[in-house]
Amino acid sequence: MVTEQRFGTSRVTLVQGDITAQVVDAVVNAANSSLLGGGGVDGAIHRVGGPAILAACRTIVARIGRLEPGGAVVTPAGDLPARFVIHTVGPVWRGGVEAEEATLERAYRESLSRALEAGARSVAFPSISTGAYRFPIRRAAAVALATVASVLEDGADLDEVRFVLFSGRDLGVYAETLAALDG
Ligand code: ADP
Repeated sequence: MVTEQRFGTSRVTLVQGDITAQVVDAVVNAANSSLLGGGGVDGAIHRVGGPAILAACRTIVARIGRLEPGGAVVTPAGDLPARFVIHTVGPVWRGGVEAEEATLERAYRESLSRALEAGARSVAFPSISTGAYRFPIRRAAAVALATVASVLEDGADLDEVRFVLFSGRDLGVYAETLAALDG
């Protein structure tokens, strides 16, 4: 199983695990537009990270209102073993007729931009949109990995971009997709 590949001077790695346990500079939250918490990854990040993250989200909401799908904002990481949380909103899957792939690509690109602006060298992503938002896993893996690979090949100054898959099945899909990409 291919769980690591170089792109430019960086590595993409795949692990099975919990996003809240990752020791990296920035972890990405699969948030919703309210930025006020939810289930899945969002629930876990706020539960483990503590109230400081929600307080920072409320400050952002007061400034910008709702975060549209494809956007991303950064907060401190509270009690998580990371320095920052990048909150992004993926698209809800509606059968592919609403440019969901383009929105998902933007969520990954914007997240990486926020991470780079914050000075992160390592970033961990969950599989955005493939839980409650029902984006088909194979299509999501293709968008996620191709987008990250493209940003790294364009010279983004990162050491590692890690994908943290909750299930062994999802890890297998991402591994197959990574193997099919040229490093
Ligand atoms: P979305 O609303 O963007 O679909 P979800 O949080 O519902 O986001 O799910 C995204 C993916 O993250 C799903 O595959 C889900 O199983 C997985 N997931 C849920 N909790 C965690 C966690 N603690 N760490 C990593 N992945 C998780």
